[in-house]
Amino acid sequence: MDNMSVNGSEIDSETNELLDFLFKDTKVKRNAAEKDKNKIIGLLKNSEDNKRTTPIVDLFRKLLDLRNNKGISPNDFGINRKKLITLAIKHQDIDEHYVTIGGRVGKALNIVKQANERVRDYLADKKKAAPSGIELWDQIQQNAARIKEIMGISDEEWNSYSGQLRYAIEDVDTLSKVIALPKKAIEDVTRVTKNYRMRLTPYYASLIIPGKPDDPVLQQSVPTGEMVDNVGVEIPPVAADHSPARLIDQFYPQVAAMKVTNICAMYCTHCLRIAHIGKMDKIYSKEAYEDALNYIRSNPNIRDVLITGGDAFVLPNKYVKWILNELDSIEHVKMKRLGTRIPITTPQRIDPELLDILAESNDKKPLRVVVQINTAQEITPVSKKAFKMISKRVSAILNQAVLLKGINDTKYKMWKLCETMQEAYVRPYYLFNCSFRNPQFSHLRVPVEVGRDIVESMYGNISGDAIPRYIAAAGGKIPLHRSNVARKENGSIILRKPWSGAEVSYPDADPKVYNENRFSFRKFKE
Ligand SMILES: *Cc1c(COP(=O)(O)O)cnc(C)c1O
Ligand code: SF4
Repeated sequence: MDNMSVNGSEIDSETNELLDFLFKDTKVKRNAAEKDKNKIIGLLKNSEDNKRTTPIVDLFRKLLDLRNNKGISPNDFGINRKKLITLAIKHQDIDEHYVTIGGRVGKALNIVKQANERVRDYLADKKKAAPSGIELWDQIQQNAARIKEIMGISDEEWNSYSGQLRYAIEDVDTLSKVIALPKKAIEDVTRVTKNYRMRLTPYYASLIIPGKPDDPVLQQSVPTGEMVDNVGVEIPPVAADHSPARLIDQFYPQVAAMKVTNICAMYCTHCLRIAHIGKMDKIYSKEAYEDALNYIRSNPNIRDVLITGGDAFVLPNKYVKWILNELDSIEHVKMKRLGTRIPITTPQRIDPELLDILAESNDKKPLRVVVQINTAQEITPVSKKAFKMISKRVSAILNQAVLLKGINDTKYKMWKLCETMQEAYVRPYYLFNCSFRNPQFSHLRVPVEVGRDIVESMYGNISGDAIPRYIAAAGGKIPLHRSNVARKENGSIILRKPWSGAEVSYPDADPKVYNENRFSFRKFKE
């Protein structure tokens, strides 16, 4: 039993296996290089001299490496099995979690190595495949300088919300002055904007990288000919059959959406609310809001209210404050969510007064802000600062992205988007498949199978906290994830790991035990 124990301490089977491998076929003696000898002797001394695990791990790794690559065994350095067992036991005695050297060097380090292998290409490509607005900031600032110059916008106007709105780009002439577009593209946009609106704030326009026809910000904000050319029948928007009261959409028992405006600071080429956004901005009357609030007041099941639009932050501060206040004063309303894309398209809107309003309401009942970021390029130092300020005042900022062809429909673009938003204080919440209701943007739709591959590629490769739920909006939000249950096998479920395809057997709860009603403290009843 010399193998297994020294001074009564046992070594585990994994360490034993590692030692067996190191000392396998050691009849042939090989001469280790001088360099390796010195290294091993140094590591051995360090391993013996102090109470740290690192030198022991390094020693075993080096020995394993020499065994694997040069066929050299510890014997060739005059190190016998007993000495290594002593160090193995020292290692597991020092470690807080009693991790053995066999577990750490033989297994754990390999698992980390394999995991790193899975993201190697992503880490090498992510900056090029999907640069963030933070990485592109120098270029964006040059764009901003160019746009300011062409449009005659002062710094003060640029940095204010009213300035951004005053100079919003709504016609092709202005657009083609600030962004060089091919002549054919200009004709296309001219044609479309006869029927559909275009609006980009100068800030959002500065995120477009010149000379790239596939720029993801350009594609999200400047409509193209397909919008009028696509054939198909428009299916009436959800509101047509889900609006039980003025401004209200409801199809869930406890959640109601209140569409407080039809205005947005920019118009998206994939807007699901295209029918509401309509041809002109409309200011709603106080009576409309009161009718909507009365509906919520008189339906005690509603505990969660979405304030959406259009864009909720288009409302002046005093309206935001009033609506939040009214909702907070309704006993059965327990939380609120505000839907806005303004922190992305016009972060200049986020002023101290608005931040105070959010904080005050969040203090009464949880308030979340729900945004829409579709590409890492939309996250700049300016929007990140806006997210940071908002995140200090509300209970969470959640993102609802839309999966869009050519914009974010690859694994690496989506991973990068989700990681970048997480670093910018935003939590990925939903990833919507682009709506089937509108032929206007069928050219931007992505097949569900592609979307699933993208979402499932995230599991096990990026933080779980950065993975959104993949959703089809079809009269309510329906999850699209593929099941990872492969099959059942005598009481166990065979699960598939999304990141490797490897199957694991997962013992299910025993139905007999589950149906037993006399358990825990209950068994003492009667
Ligand atoms: C999206 C939406 C909701 C909220 O859905 P959650 O899954 O709770 O985020 C509620 N009502 C309407 C009408 C909606 O469109
Ligand atoms: S911000 Fe939302 S409501 Fe406004 S245009 Fe974009 S998708 Fe539509």
